[in-house]
Amino acid sequence: MTEILKHLNKKFEYKKTQEILEYFLKKYKGEITFSSSFGAEDQLLTDMISKIDKDTKIFTLDTYVLPPETYDVMKKTDARYEITVQSYQPTYEELQQLYKRQGLNGFYESVENRKDCCFVRKIVPLKKALKGMRVWITGLRAEQSVTRTEMQLLEWDEGNDIIKLNPLVLWTHEEVWTYIKENDVPYNELHDKGYPSIGCAPCTRAVKEGDEIRSGRWWWENPEHKECGLHFK
Ligand code: SF4
Repeated sequence: MTEILKHLNKKFEYKKTQEILEYFLKKYKGEITFSSSFGAEDQLLTDMISKIDKDTKIFTLDTYVLPPETYDVMKKTDARYEITVQSYQPTYEELQQLYKRQGLNGFYESVENRKDCCFVRKIVPLKKALKGMRVWITGLRAEQSVTRTEMQLLEWDEGNDIIKLNPLVLWTHEEVWTYIKENDVPYNELHDKGYPSIGCAPCTRAVKEGDEIRSGRWWWENPEHKECGLHFK
């Protein structure tokens, strides 16, 4: 698989993002899905994907503790593109077990607790969302953090047994926002209030201009730990 992906990475090296999406959405129709957390990059991709094939499965991981602004943009996105973004959540039993292990805000107490919470609220629902799929599209960009600099357009995700397609891998922050403004893409209001990266409400805070993009996520941890396990290799 790695050799095939290397070849495909070369083949698509100079292609435009729209062309890459058109190719994969057609080739893997019914077996390709896009995960959105309604951040700027994901909104851009929802716009592109909906313009190519509205039937593509787009899903989100609703941890039950997202900021209200994220639920607002979720609603606006469905209405604007006439789609239904599918929600995957942890079960009641899984949450009860989590609270028993670490209490209500136990994720602030240690990296292990935080990863346990991310596992229950994100990783387990993600596995359900990816079931039966062969390609997973993400909105990741290489410049977002120190944990993403080695990213490729196409990667093999061993843990989920799936091809990962990162069409925005080489996009810059400025390019993302130019596309959003030019195409009047709906976006999360928190981006205008100092939140370049948005996750769960208790684990995201505003940052100062010029700060690292993901520095407001799990701000009490070291940068190399700042992944929820969805994309960390
Ligand atoms: S980001 Fe925070 S609240 Fe959300 S799943 Fe991870 S630890 Fe839990």
